[in-house]
Amino acid sequence: MITIKNYINGELVDPANGNYLDNYNPADETVYSLIPNSSEEDLERTILSAKKAFPAWSQLSIDKRSRYLIKVADLIEANLDKLAEAESLDNGKPVSLARKVDIPRAAANFRFFASAIVNESTQAHIMEGVAINYTRRAPLGVVACISPWNLPLYLLTWKIAPALATGNCVIAKPSEVTPYTAFLLSELFIEAGIPAGVLNIIHGKGAEIGQKLVEHKEIKAISFTGGTSTGRIIGTEAAKQFKKVSLELGGKNPVLIFDDCDLEKAVETTVKSSFTNQGEICLCGSRIFIQEAIYEDFRSRFVEKVKNLRVGDPKTEVDLGPLVSEAHLRKVEMYVNEAIAQGGKVLTGGGRLGQAGYFFEPTVIEGLDEYCVINQEEVFGPVVTLVPFKEEQDAVKKANATVYGLAAVIWSQDVQRAHRVAHQIESGIVWVNCWMLRDLRTPFGGMKESGVGREGGSDALHFFTETQNVCIKL
Ligand code: NAD
Repeated sequence: MITIKNYINGELVDPANGNYLDNYNPADETVYSLIPNSSEEDLERTILSAKKAFPAWSQLSIDKRSRYLIKVADLIEANLDKLAEAESLDNGKPVSLARKVDIPRAAANFRFFASAIVNESTQAHIMEGVAINYTRRAPLGVVACISPWNLPLYLLTWKIAPALATGNCVIAKPSEVTPYTAFLLSELFIEAGIPAGVLNIIHGKGAEIGQKLVEHKEIKAISFTGGTSTGRIIGTEAAKQFKKVSLELGGKNPVLIFDDCDLEKAVETTVKSSFTNQGEICLCGSRIFIQEAIYEDFRSRFVEKVKNLRVGDPKTEVDLGPLVSEAHLRKVEMYVNEAIAQGGKVLTGGGRLGQAGYFFEPTVIEGLDEYCVINQEEVFGPVVTLVPFKEEQDAVKKANATVYGLAAVIWSQDVQRAHRVAHQIESGIVWVNCWMLRDLRTPFGGMKESGVGREGGSDALHFFTETQNVCIKL
């Protein structure tokens, strides 16, 4: 049994109240580790530790801060196998995916922001013969980074890296469903010699210790990734104290397949955009809209490929592992049953697999319009729907018929059409003839109920700093 600890003031410590929560292996439903069920006493210790570390860390030269972050990136890379196995054990994703995507990206997050601060410049506005204005950006102080369970280390480091790079001290709250790699990251921070208190990681329940963290008056900004309903609570709390807040929330992403697309590539990539990480990526396409002329052709090729996906033990060569938790499995089952009750036809999949472990078949449903429950609410699992459309405007209307607006994919060989449609889609990210192609300099985030603000590149550097203009009379 592994006992996960909080990381406070440079040390790995037990929760003050001695209480722990069970942490499950989703592949076999056993409890394999214990997580601190932290209380306000632990939170106060993290706040004190971060406040104490802030003056020295924020005044450290950019070059030195950058070197510290590069050390962390190096250590993540050196521990690739260990971290990938831990991520798979905790979350259920195939080890091969964690090795290829999650862990390399966690290292890349630190490397990217270590380099970004060295290359960042600020503005000057010259009033000829009168004055010079220059803009500086100062770190905020102690900030909170709260992350979800689907890409545990990848998304936690996506927040921690820019926050630390810009000179803030961080209190991170990983998901209580997948705390393991955050714990291993704290060990790497100790090994890298990062000054005590610069990063603190507190484990526990979101609605309890997470909420207390958000409400704490010493927290200057909150960077949150998770569900839309949690985002609403956090946004409301943040507004009461005028805290800066960045919200990366849920999605119901459309994939638009036009009849002039490269069908083979569209089918192949749409299988990936539907089922990678068991469909538990906020960027996965879950509503597939296909132009009428190629609907049947797309459907038969797509369903055939989906039937060939391998679901099983995530330690072996599979395409999908189990879903993350029993509660999530029940939620996915509920949505599929609801879709069937509303008249949906299951083309493949549709149910739980096996007796032990939270495995669910890759599922394709047709026969429902864009307004039914499964095309409106986020399932966040291996379930997609196929819906035909007539022409461009019909596709745009159907794609936009949801409260979400995170990501969209367009498949077409017509460049003019791709631009035209992209500009009408209400989503923060549009991919044309590809999916999940990421340049860390680009703005990342959602429109409508998918979020507020953008992460990535200079957006993240700006979020974690306060802008000040200094005007000097000549
Ligand atoms: P969640 O909202 O339940 O939890 C996310 C985090 O918030 C966890 O660490 C949790 O402990 C914490 N939390 C919960 N209640 C809180 C509260 N009241 N105050 C403070 N913290 C609280 O989300 P989840 O189930 O872990 O993740 C799945 C969701 O995340 C999906 O909706 C998915 O779309 C979304 N997501 C979005 C993005 C994006 O970039 N937009 C990326 C990944 C996941």
